[in-house]
Amino acid sequence: MPVISAVVPCYNEEESLPLFYAEICRVAREAGRFELELVFVDDGSSDGTLRILRQLAQSDVRVRYLSFSRNFGKESAMLAGLRAATGDYVALLDADLQDPPALLPEMLDILEDEQSEYDIVATRRADRKGEPPVRSFFARAFYRLINRISDTEIVDGARDFRLMRRRVVDCILELPEYNRFSKGIFSWVGFKTHWISYENRPRAAGNTKWSFWKLLLYSVDGIVAFSTRPLAIASLMGILMCLIAFLSLIFIIVRTLIWGDPVAGWPSMICVIVLIGGLQLFCIGILGQYLSKTYLETKRRPAYLIRETEEAAKRCGK
Ligand code: UDP
Ligand code: MG
Repeated sequence: MPVISAVVPCYNEEESLPLFYAEICRVAREAGRFELELVFVDDGSSDGTLRILRQLAQSDVRVRYLSFSRNFGKESAMLAGLRAATGDYVALLDADLQDPPALLPEMLDILEDEQSEYDIVATRRADRKGEPPVRSFFARAFYRLINRISDTEIVDGARDFRLMRRRVVDCILELPEYNRFSKGIFSWVGFKTHWISYENRPRAAGNTKWSFWKLLLYSVDGIVAFSTRPLAIASLMGILMCLIAFLSLIFIIVRTLIWGDPVAGWPSMICVIVLIGGLQLFCIGILGQYLSKTYLETKRRPAYLIRETEEAAKRCGK
């Protein structure tokens, strides 16, 4: 039987974890066509998540867990989980049951179908129902923007929920970058992907960990990680401004030669100076984004630090 490793990032999920565990075990039992390995990654939770994981690991040999020394973010948690997973297939799921484990057998069927030769089954949401309209608006704008300026296609509404073959996971793990934007990485590695869509569903329990601000910063990370076009846009804007300035200069010289030079228009001059100053700062800001990411990459800091794993816990008899 093939082994599916389910990688589950958990940050303060004490309420949804028991529900998730029960559900995925039920699905595996009823399908009976695959063995399950559960890799939970506790992303520095401050509630009882780690306690629950310890209990699960003690009572069920299929459960493994890693616990971070602090909150490193979902991207780091997914990376750690993918590294730890040993199965023939690896699934990425959220702990809140918004990614229904009940789809796993169907996804496995698609990968095991020899004619189609798919390597990945990925999911996307069918609609944005139940989402605040402001968030939907910005999400759509983000996808439009990034797909216009990036060579890597970022699928609108794609979730992180997916089932991948071992070879895909190995390729993903070969990407050494520190600033990880999974939606981009998954699409950058390529491979034949089958998409299935399903309706957005509410969280089983607990609250979302993503504020609007966090999502906005995440989208900037995504753009910087998967496009250098903003840098080119900055230069283009510079060239455009030079052109405008040059034409205005000619216009002013000609006008002065014909009509003389009455001193007027200093308010408009201030406006122009402020505009150009603003544009310059904006472009320096763009540059700064890339520079800061480069700085972080060159530091070569690990994406996460592990405080405890179930192996270590077993070894010291915890
Ligand atoms: N998560 C995490 N670290 C974080 C934030 C979130 O590991 O810093 C996990 C969280 O426990 C959940 C998944 O990422 O399993 C998705 O988070 P959430 O459900 O809050 O996001 P949403 O579904 O609202 O986009
Ligand atoms: Mg969720």
